[in-house]
Amino acid sequence: MTAEDLKALIRTVPDFPKPGILFRDITTLIADGAGFAATIELLATQATAARAEAIAGMEARGFIFGAAVAARLALPFLPIRKPGKLPVPVLSIDYALEYGTDTLEVDPTAIGSAQRVVIIDDLIATGGTATAAVKLLRSAGALVDHALFVIDLPDLGGANRLRALDVAVSALMD
Ligand code: IMP
Repeated sequence: MTAEDLKALIRTVPDFPKPGILFRDITTLIADGAGFAATIELLATQATAARAEAIAGMEARGFIFGAAVAARLALPFLPIRKPGKLPVPVLSIDYALEYGTDTLEVDPTAIGSAQRVVIIDDLIATGGTATAAVKLLRSAGALVDHALFVIDLPDLGGANRLRALDVAVSALMD
């Protein structure tokens, strides 16, 4: 399956979560077994090229793709969690949303110092989430120089924000 085939499996939903937003929904992609498998293969090839030693994924859709890639490559998976979910002391970072702030947390003991961690999420828009994840992982001592996405919305500038942090960005489609 080509990236074009995979793109055809993604549903675009108008006015979600609010009027004017065209939401790219991966539910229909992962409901297609061959499409999901091909997506994981393509991401796994990119993670190998990035010399990943561990994969980090952001809750919740980053878990779907990141955990599958980690298992495919027999690499550790590091969940980047929403606040208040982990039962151990965490490192956390607050980041700005369009309205208000959000927080990401990680268990720093899960991350080896100087371990090369590749970030995976379903989609990069403004890059706020991924930028926060890079900073969080680096604060835990990880080396973060690649981030992989199924979808990039380039008009929103997220990939460029990551590149400004010396993170190479790849996406399977825009
Ligand atoms: P950003 O922080 O603005 O780059 O937004 C990316 C985060 O929001 C990712 O974790 C995505 O899962 C989620 N997101 C933003 N827009 C969409 C969309 O159109 N479809 C699916 N997820 C989205």
